[in-house]
Parts: sequence; C-alpha cells; structure tokens
Amino acid sequence: MSAKRDYYEVLGVGRDATKDEIKRAYRKLSKKYHPDLNKEPGADEKFKEISEAYEVLSDDQKRAQYDQFGHAGANQDFGGFGGGGFSDFGGFGFEDIFDTFFGGGGRRRNPNAPRQGADLQYTMTLSFEEAAFGKETDIEIPKDEQCSTCHGSGAKPGTSPEECPYCHGSGQISTEQNTPFGRIVNRRNCPHCQGTGEIIKEKCTTCRGTGKVKKRKKIHVKIPAGIDDGQQLRVAGQGEPGINGGPPGDLYIIFYVKEHEFFERDGDDVYIEMPITFAQAALGDEIEVPTLYGKVKLKIPAGTQTHTKFRLRGKGIKNVRGNGVGDQHVILKIVTPKKLTEKQKQLLREFAEISGDIPEEQSESFFNKMKRAFKGD
Ligand SMILES: [Zn+2]
Ligand SMILES: [Zn+2]
Repeated sequence: MSAKRDYYEVLGVGRDATKDEIKRAYRKLSKKYHPDLNKEPGADEKFKEISEAYEVLSDDQKRAQYDQFGHAGANQDFGGFGGGGFSDFGGFGFEDIFDTFFGGGGRRRNPNAPRQGADLQYTMTLSFEEAAFGKETDIEIPKDEQCSTCHGSGAKPGTSPEECPYCHGSGQISTEQNTPFGRIVNRRNCPHCQGTGEIIKEKCTTCRGTGKVKKRKKIHVKIPAGIDDGQQLRVAGQGEPGINGGPPGDLYIIFYVKEHEFFERDGDDVYIEMPITFAQAALGDEIEVPTLYGKVKLKIPAGTQTHTKFRLRGKGIKNVRGNGVGDQHVILKIVTPKKLTEKQKQLLREFAEISGDIPEEQSESFFNKMKRAFKGD
C-alpha cells in the first residue's frame, strides 16, 4: 500500500480550516472526481481518498485524533475505511451528494407533497378577421374536478383508503446496493399503491377510485389582436387543479387561423392581389381596394405594369406584442379579356395599327440577339 497523503493536503485546506471550509472543499472535489461523472483513470481512487479525508476531518473527534496521531492513530482508532465504510459521512450523506450532482434527481419524492396540476391544451379556430382584431369569448374545457361522492378520496362512501402494507404508507420502496465506493440507496414509487401510500379496497363507483370526475368548465378568454396561425396563448392557473394543495396547471390555447378569400397574411403584413383592366393600367385610374379597415382609394398612375406593388401603410395587422401595425401590400394584376365583342376587336385592331408600339421583347433586334445567343457567337 502506497503512503497515505495528508488529509488536509487531500482536501487542499489548511490545518486551521473551519468545518465550512472543509465541507466546501469536499463538495467541490467530490463532484470533480465522482466516478459517475469523471471517467478518467484514477478518478475512482481519488474520490475514495477525498471521501476518507472528509470522513475524518468533518468529525470533531476524529479530526482531533488525526491531528494528534496522524494516519496511524486514525487507522488504529477507527478501524480503517475498507468494506463500504462510506455509507455514513457524518451529517452529509449520499442523498446530499446526489442532490448536488444530479440537480435534485435523487430527491425523495413524497407522495403527499404539494404538486402543480397538469397543463391543459385547447385548440381554437379563428377567422382571419378574428385573428387580426382579437376577441373575447367563453370556451368550455373538460377539466378534472374533485369527485363529490367520495370527496376526492376515491373510496366508496362509508369506507376509507387504507395504509399500503407494502410501503407502510410512505409511497416509496427502498432498495440498497453496495458499490465499491459506498452504499447507494435507491428509492422508487411503490408499485402496489402507485406512490400514494394508500390502497383503496372498495372503490367509489362515481369516479372508479380516481377521486376525480371530468367536468366541463367555462372559461372566459381574451384573445389578443394579431395572433397568428400556430401561436399559443397561456392562461395561467386554468389547467388541472393542484395535487395536495399545490398550484393549478396552466391552460394553453393553440390557434388555427382560417384562410381568407382575398387577403393573405405574412406576419403583420397583409397582401391582396387586385385585378385591373389593360385600359385602367394604360390610362391610369382610381380604384377601391378592400382592407381590414374598410375600402381605401388607390390611384393607379398611367402606364402601370402588371405586378406593380403599392403599400398602404398601417393597414396591416396589429402586432400581437404591441410593436406597431403592419402594412397592406396591393399587387396589381392586369387581366387580359378573354371574350371580346366585334366592336371591341375592331377598336383594338385600330389601336394596334396606330400605336405600332411593339414591346421591345418582340422587336427585330431582340430576335436577332436571341438567335445569336442560341448559336453561341
Ligand atoms: Zn369518487
Ligand atoms: Zn405502497
């Protein structure tokens, strides 16, 4: 056996270290070298060494003996540390360490501790306008409520739940396991009573022993203007009731927004495609454009091309977080008439003759350019 290192040196503290300093040093080092967290070779030995040093230095009496007699005295007086001697760390057991290591994962789950109720989810379909302007409405949600027949106990009236004989009412079953670095206690929910600590012999027939019944509950909700498809709204405290006096869960409303016949939405902006005639585009005109806020007049300048976009500022949707209002974009689409009367045809032929205005795309030079491009010269 190699020479033992000084316990103070192992923990990296001075000989006059306070109990708190020793505890802090131990917590830090044991976290660093715990075999579950540190897979480096030698971490295991290091962890044992740290634990051994702490066991002695955290105990006033053992520390005094160690200060006086060193390792020899310690070994002689405490009988060494072999054979799973780590099960008792003197006021700082495995529970504490595991709490620290695993973020409370090792915490004892008390079946009678207050717990928050479950969250509920509700989906709501809105029209385009309802989403844009918001609305107030009542919704009915199925919710668990305490059974009035058994007052939540789940037992048939006249009987009461009995203490579970397997876990003696604790709701937990412990198993112990010896490992090279100490004894580990595993606790899990008792499978006989599902962690409640109670067994119901004669179940309430109304709630079939659950102590809860489904009821429909009306809730008034305020839907903010600007909510969009797929977004959700949290209504605090309207989920399932809490357990053992814990707080209730929350209600989440998820929205589906129906498509609009004319409007399309992109964030807070609204898009609309407005058909106009060739004559309107060529000569210019003033048209009426529908918006969420009513009709708006829009001036089309003479010579407007198809797909020209106009922006109507502030005619979009109110931002759901209150960051202003979006715009409405109007996209003009020039519609070519499909059916023409003889007179219309005649006028158009005349128009073509007088104007001689062939688009550049159809001109001689354009075709020549295309030919060259295909030939590759
Ligand atoms: Zn009941
Ligand atoms: Zn049990």
